[in-house]
Amino acid sequence: MYKVIRILKTCSFREKRISAYTSNMRFFSLSPFSRQADDFGVCFDIDGVISRGHVPFPEARTAYQLLMDHDRNIHIPSCFVTNSLGRNSCRAMQLTEWLGVTVNPEQMVLGQGPLEMYSEYHHKNCLIIGQGQLRQIAAELGFTNVYLMDEVMEAYPLLDASNHEKNTPLVALELNEKELPNIEALVLIGEPKHWECQLQILIDILLTNGKPSGKQNRVNYQTIPVIGCNVDLQYMHKAEFPRFGHGAFLLCLESLFKKLTGKDLEYSVLTGKPSEVTFRYAEHCLSNIAQNHGSFKPLKRMYMIGDNIDVDIAGANLYQRYINAAAENKNCALSASRQPPNNGIFLPQTVTEIYGILVKTGVSFASSGITHSHRDFTLDSDILKPHIILDNVLDAIQYIIKNES
Ligand SMILES: [Mg+2]
Repeated sequence: MYKVIRILKTCSFREKRISAYTSNMRFFSLSPFSRQADDFGVCFDIDGVISRGHVPFPEARTAYQLLMDHDRNIHIPSCFVTNSLGRNSCRAMQLTEWLGVTVNPEQMVLGQGPLEMYSEYHHKNCLIIGQGQLRQIAAELGFTNVYLMDEVMEAYPLLDASNHEKNTPLVALELNEKELPNIEALVLIGEPKHWECQLQILIDILLTNGKPSGKQNRVNYQTIPVIGCNVDLQYMHKAEFPRFGHGAFLLCLESLFKKLTGKDLEYSVLTGKPSEVTFRYAEHCLSNIAQNHGSFKPLKRMYMIGDNIDVDIAGANLYQRYINAAAENKNCALSASRQPPNNGIFLPQTVTEIYGILVKTGVSFASSGITHSHRDFTLDSDILKPHIILDNVLDAIQYIIKNES
């Protein structure tokens, strides 16, 4: 407390900050959720809702702490549903710092998170595409036979001709060539560096039954499964304008494949918002958190707070359709890539209503009217309608408090 006061005294907006802090303390002493166990959960998008790039919004801390009990433990189950790539533990640590209370790794639903449920791929020879700690991320999801692009390039050094300055002698290439097992699945979990050579080699693998050696005949169709996580065409980062995301990389791959073969690239799995798979997984995570914190009430309602109509709001509304179809024992007409896995070990699906709350602090509030959704998602105008539009995440939580009172 003394440390906080000392910091506040040095602040040029001292009165304003003290007011915000005491207001925060008041929320702790008068918790808005007094019931022992509530039957709803809250999903937060991160970028554009909790933060902009690596800078958290000041109101996010107050908003999130309203979901805690008097001892700063989880009272209302919540999770963070983001399409970004990373390790759950690292993102949870970052959020803990930003929000001032402990965020646990099991509260993280990152783009690749639902792959944990697709055990049929876990023991195949998978080429993992992305950046960062890919081996650790893949291992945490359950993948056991992981290969990275560097290994493919080392085994087949003639495939990449995109760098004209690279001029390795042919003799050395033959000596260095080593055998890799057939790649049995492509797992695209995030945009890589150096797209041009990655695109070339992914196409080579797709058209050679996972074995892009010079001896292998090329075929004119897809022979191995492709798994894609995060279909965001753009995302908001530090720059004034949105940046190309993993969806842009996938679009390039799909376009090249179509141009070369005349056929559509087929995805076996697409995770990340707005996929129903990701919302089904988020519900599973919320139920798990509720049970771990002593609630035995099945969840009935979910709230998704997001800044992106195409993924956050569309995702919530698509999941509502999925839930409605399940309640009527009908199959929701989804592409195969969006179907939750039959053998996935999920907690029971109990939510009956999901509300998409759009906040104005991020990427697509001022929409141009052009949807940036992925090819496998047809988003009609009803799907793009938010339940409510609010200024920021604090307003969103206060709206939920009112709605649940
Ligand atoms: Mg966002």
